[in-house]
Amino acid sequence: MNSTDRVVIEGCAIATMDDELTEYSNGHIVLEGGAIVAVGEGSAPALEPGIRRIDGSGCLATPGLINCHHHLYQWLTRGRAQQSNLFEWLTELYPVWAHIDVDMQRAAARAGLAALVRSGCSTTTDHHYVFPRGAGDLLEPAITSARELGVRFHPCRGSMDLGRSRGGLPPDEVTEDRDAILAATERAIDSWHDPASGSMLRIAVAPCSPFSVTTELMREAAALARERGVRLHTHLAETLEEQEFCVESFGVRPVEYLADLGWLGSDVWLAHCVHLSDSEVRRLAESGTGVAHCPTSNARLGAGIAPVASLTSAGAPVGLGVDGAASNEGGELGPEIRQAMLVARIAGGPTALTARGALALATRGGARCLGRDEIGSLEPAMEADIALWRLDDLDHAGMADPVAALVFGPPRPVELLLVKGRAVVEEGLLATADESSIAADLDKASRRLLESA
Ligand SMILES: [Zn+2]
Repeated sequence: MNSTDRVVIEGCAIATMDDELTEYSNGHIVLEGGAIVAVGEGSAPALEPGIRRIDGSGCLATPGLINCHHHLYQWLTRGRAQQSNLFEWLTELYPVWAHIDVDMQRAAARAGLAALVRSGCSTTTDHHYVFPRGAGDLLEPAITSARELGVRFHPCRGSMDLGRSRGGLPPDEVTEDRDAILAATERAIDSWHDPASGSMLRIAVAPCSPFSVTTELMREAAALARERGVRLHTHLAETLEEQEFCVESFGVRPVEYLADLGWLGSDVWLAHCVHLSDSEVRRLAESGTGVAHCPTSNARLGAGIAPVASLTSAGAPVGLGVDGAASNEGGELGPEIRQAMLVARIAGGPTALTARGALALATRGGARCLGRDEIGSLEPAMEADIALWRLDDLDHAGMADPVAALVFGPPRPVELLLVKGRAVVEEGLLATADESSIAADLDKASRRLLESA
């Protein structure tokens, strides 16, 4: 199916995720040229003969999902440091990651992107911050893989310049020189960034975390991003150990540290934000700073539960992230919606997050975090990023409410995923690449990394 075709999807329930959260029980979507031209109840209005029709009966259509935080390279190192907290886990894994090369990165990126699209994700970020000396350009394999698979991509040029010898957590061998980082980041913007509406690729500037990056790099990264009109991303307030590090090193808690560096604003989104006070929640909301909530990773590392209900009710943009597969062991975004709802309820009771509120995180909330107003809902003139979920199978049949079936029900691969009108998943399978060869390449690359580390 070409992105230029005029196509109608009909006979499906539709959760548009527009401002009014409009839903249709048996509706239609018409798309053309990679954009949506009509959405509504019942059959599509009279259309020319021969138009392609997709039978959506038994399915729910939602906007394609948006993943706001990920580290694709971590597909190479799953299942390690199983009982570790964040700092222990990083300390065990940094020396392994120091051996990643371009071919390994390509295998990991293709695997990670395949898992994402099969779970309904049409737009993803990748925060890549490990650039071992002499390993070459590790951003390029992820970018070409995203293009191959057909996913909308926001690669974040990450970085670390605060090694162990200067009081940071990572070993010096995985850090880079500050000027080299800024030059490489600028090159990435020049080479790849497309600011146009409907863009398939936007670069962000993304120093890694307070305990692996110098204050100087944080400041200069922000200046570079603002000069070039690209977004800023980093990890923040993930664990109590990080909070202690900030208080000891800078005399302030993580949010205050960022505020002092000019790092709060509507062009910034932050991964995690688990440990926030009420006033810090307000501060993020008032400044328009986004949060990428990563519930599975936070649970896996025992980091805690982010105050999502407080953040969204204060008005902060909140999206969802799978985070790296080394602290998730998976990378499917669909199941993260359910996970977000469940952990919010553990923390705040059964009204803390509704099924629709959880779906909103993965769609319109993610779009806000990434500064995209042309994705995240199904409305005329929006990009044709559409996920069609089968709900008449054994796992979901008979549930009265299709959105509840999707979110409360057992997670399953998406039936059909369109990105800019192009099918990237059909009948639950990758339409743009061969899944078994991706798995075989990942297996080979992971073994090679194990042997070289
Ligand atoms: Zn992360």
